[in-house]
Amino acid sequence: MPSSDNNSTDKTLYDYDLFVIGAGSGGVRLARMSAGMGKKVAVAEDRYLGGTCVNVGCVPKKLFVYASHILEDLEDGRGYGWSTDGKLKFNWQTLLKNKNTEIERLNGIYHNLLVNSGAEIINGRARFIDNNTVEVNGKHITAKRIVIATGSWPFVPKFEGSELAITSNEFFFVDELPKTAVVVGGGYIAIEMAGILNGLGVDTTLVYRGNLFLRGFDEEVRAFVKEEVLKKGIKLQFNDNVVALNKTNDELIQVSFESGQVSTAGLVLYATGRTPHLQDLGLENVDIQLNSKGQVVVNEQFETSVKNIYALGDVTGGMQLTPVALAEGMFLAHNLFNVHKPELIDYTNIATAVFCQPNIATVGLSEEQAREEYDDISIFVSSFKALKHTLSGRDERSLMKMIVDKKTDVVLGVHMVGSDAGEIIQGISIALKAGATKKIFDQTIGIHPTAAEEFVTMREETR
Ligand SMILES: Cc1cc2nc3c(=O)[nH]c(=O)nc-3n(C[C@H](O)[C@H](O)[C@H](O)COP(=O)(O)OP(=O)(O)OC[C@H]3O[C@@H](n4cnc5c(N)ncnc54)[C@H](O)[C@@H]3O)c2cc1C
Repeated sequence: MPSSDNNSTDKTLYDYDLFVIGAGSGGVRLARMSAGMGKKVAVAEDRYLGGTCVNVGCVPKKLFVYASHILEDLEDGRGYGWSTDGKLKFNWQTLLKNKNTEIERLNGIYHNLLVNSGAEIINGRARFIDNNTVEVNGKHITAKRIVIATGSWPFVPKFEGSELAITSNEFFFVDELPKTAVVVGGGYIAIEMAGILNGLGVDTTLVYRGNLFLRGFDEEVRAFVKEEVLKKGIKLQFNDNVVALNKTNDELIQVSFESGQVSTAGLVLYATGRTPHLQDLGLENVDIQLNSKGQVVVNEQFETSVKNIYALGDVTGGMQLTPVALAEGMFLAHNLFNVHKPELIDYTNIATAVFCQPNIATVGLSEEQAREEYDDISIFVSSFKALKHTLSGRDERSLMKMIVDKKTDVVLGVHMVGSDAGEIIQGISIALKAGATKKIFDQTIGIHPTAAEEFVTMREETR
């Protein structure tokens, strides 16, 4: 196939200037921005508009987290004088129905955003035929540039009875809430799912083969969260793994562990990582380089090893977060089609949250990373009972932690465990992005009474 100049539309050569495979976070942003810049764009999607985040990720998860926290809020109300007459009931079907209605509304918004931008939506699975051609629903479509924005897919290892396990994909649609559940995994999705189930009254065990979950997070945060999660009633079974699942007569699943222990559960949910979603993409027809994890290798401009094929978002590995995929989609649209070229994406100090209960949020370096990278650091830590829990009586504590480079006074990392941690750390991440020093934090006058004010009143170095 001949290729034409980078900035012109050559309708005689190709059907589209840009063909995006996958209408998830990154793909939709890229497609609608590029169409908005006057380019002829199509986006293929075979499941759901909005991708993982909207349909089986961030959004339904956060709605379920809200649902799972309500009983605790009501219990906390007792110390404030509130009581119920004991008839409070939870209906899983109502939650599912309302969640589905909201997701459908969001699917509609994504549809309108794309169509109004001028991008064409093609419902179907796309497959590469060659570097400039894809096949969707049996039809060959050509494009000058093709972008792989196909996201990632839950990975369940193969073992005896592994087909009985579900993943987050199915959890958002299960017909009935079980009485008991086993969640397997040590990453943020596993701990969030365990928190949701536990909060909704399901007897939940979290199984992880390592000795502590949330690898990669600050060690002190991990240990602190372990204690808080235990207080909530989640059973933690670390240094163990599932070896077999078998259906019992009463439709429960018998779970056999490496440790020799055997238990039963109504639901076994695997959250043991995600792999790039590249199945049936026709990669055998294009010479795209993958890394050892099977992720698409791209450079900082999201170019793959094939000149006119790009990839972004989860499928490339990276941070696997929606705002990152959005930023990459936006970058690529401008880089390809805007005369003013954008700055490369800066991946430092990207804040993240874990919506376990209580929440975790973090930005910058962990203490362990900072010790490796810097000669001399100061650590400021505060652990306290939030004002709300003085009257609620709940034995829940919050943790705030700040890591500072002694030489420059620059704040290297900020971590929080506690209510609304994500909301608080989002603001703090701007300060870190701006290179704030500890002195600037100290000069900032707090908002009283809040938990967040703790970050501007940490005077005593902990170590
Ligand atoms: C349970 C869970 C909770 C999460 N929570 C958060 C959170 O709180 N915050 C956060 O920032 N991130 C969260 N994430 C991660 C976030 O959802 C992803 O990082 C983000 O969706 C990645 O966007 P993407 O564009 O790369 O891929 P996706 O959003 O996955 O979109 C890819 C799309 O491509 C489609 N597709 C794949 N192959 C083809 C094909 N051949 N043809 C046509 N279409 C195809 C798929 O159907 C999908 O719609 C969560 C993920 C999960 C699973």
